[in-house]
Amino acid sequence: MEVEIITIGDEVITGHTVDTNAAYIATRLVDSGFIVRYRTSVGDNAEDMEEAFRLALKRVDVVITTGGLGPTDDDITKRSVVKVFKRNLIFHEDLLEDIRARYAKRGIDMPAINQNQALLPQGATFFPNKNGSAVGICIAEQGKVFVALPGVPFEMAQILDDDVIPYLQGMSNREVIAVRKLRTTGIVESRLAEMLVGGLKLEPGVRLAYLPGYRGVDLRVIAGGESKEETETKVRNLMRYLESVAGKYIYGYDDDTLEAILGQLLKDNDRTLAVAESCTGGLLGAVLTSVPGSSAYFLGGIQAYTNNVKMSELNVPLEVIEQHGAVSEECAIAMAAGCRERFESDFAIAITGIAGPDGGTEEKPVGTVWVGIASAHNKRARLFKLGGQRSVIRERSVYAAMELLRREILDIQ
Ligand code: ATP
Ligand code: MG
Repeated sequence: MEVEIITIGDEVITGHTVDTNAAYIATRLVDSGFIVRYRTSVGDNAEDMEEAFRLALKRVDVVITTGGLGPTDDDITKRSVVKVFKRNLIFHEDLLEDIRARYAKRGIDMPAINQNQALLPQGATFFPNKNGSAVGICIAEQGKVFVALPGVPFEMAQILDDDVIPYLQGMSNREVIAVRKLRTTGIVESRLAEMLVGGLKLEPGVRLAYLPGYRGVDLRVIAGGESKEETETKVRNLMRYLESVAGKYIYGYDDDTLEAILGQLLKDNDRTLAVAESCTGGLLGAVLTSVPGSSAYFLGGIQAYTNNVKMSELNVPLEVIEQHGAVSEECAIAMAAGCRERFESDFAIAITGIAGPDGGTEEKPVGTVWVGIASAHNKRARLFKLGGQRSVIRERSVYAAMELLRREILDIQ
């Protein structure tokens, strides 16, 4: 099934609102096996909207719009929809009751203007909105499906995930699709491709996509076929190959995050972790603690930004800093060891590097990052030469550090 996504609103086309809706819908659809053919944005202008809807209905099977379903006069999506489909707007008493009840719960009388939101195109079905008053609207006609969703991102996402995608999957009985994602880190896309390409044999209907990001490269496996067994077998066969070749770089699957996987490893092994951060200034601690339940293994951290703090809080010897500099193997190891002692943790990670844009030298250019790891048996550090601007280098440092610890725990070389 081919899809066009149309995001609506003057704020969207002028760039005042960043169009996260289109990106969200596209990713969710692709991960569910649909093909996104076009993404369009259009302002709050009836003629433009109608033209965009007509064109989309001509060239794809499914059209999904977001925005312009509110009760105010500037929200005109519904009016354009009924014009294109040549239908009337019909009043739905039960919808109005729902909206009234929603207001009553908050102790507010429903403004009369909300009557508009109980109007739906004739013959349309609707998808309930658990977080707001504009329901999702669905019209199926002549083999085409048109879905209009509200613009507020979390309202849109709930309706899309709970109702729209299952609905579309139920319709596309022509082909069964299976999708899995393998998540790798610590290897660049081209090197990964080089490793994989030699023995790669794709069965008919199977696709492999490389999805690189700052945190690593995801491998998406999509298989189409006539039955669930067939597509799942195809996916499993390819996954087995990918795991056999790139296994040590794979930290998880689908929606797994490195921070959650690392946390689970620590928890399973009954180990604790503390961190000492220089150039990442607390980012590693923030990412680790974004995982619910991280207090089971994460003890705390020190933002050892200046040399003085590295010495006073982490016991880094002055000679280490004088002889090797703060961004050095020796300093990273001393920071990790000092942190581990200070927190009495099983593991400690230290990050020290040059995030830029200034401060780089010929010998230690911007992006030079040392990650130190200390455990009961081992103290070591690894050098990373990371690319990108300041924020990217900091983010990459955090993921490199977590990956280094994951490999330490699993004893992966
Ligand atoms: P409401 O009932 O709130 O008026 P609506 O369906 O009319 O909802 P809009 O008025 O178009 O939606 O947008 C509501 C808010 O949702 C906007 O202020 C904007 O912050 C956000 N929004 C709209 N479209 C997008 C988009 N494409 N990407 C991200 N955010 C969006
Ligand atoms: Mg609105």
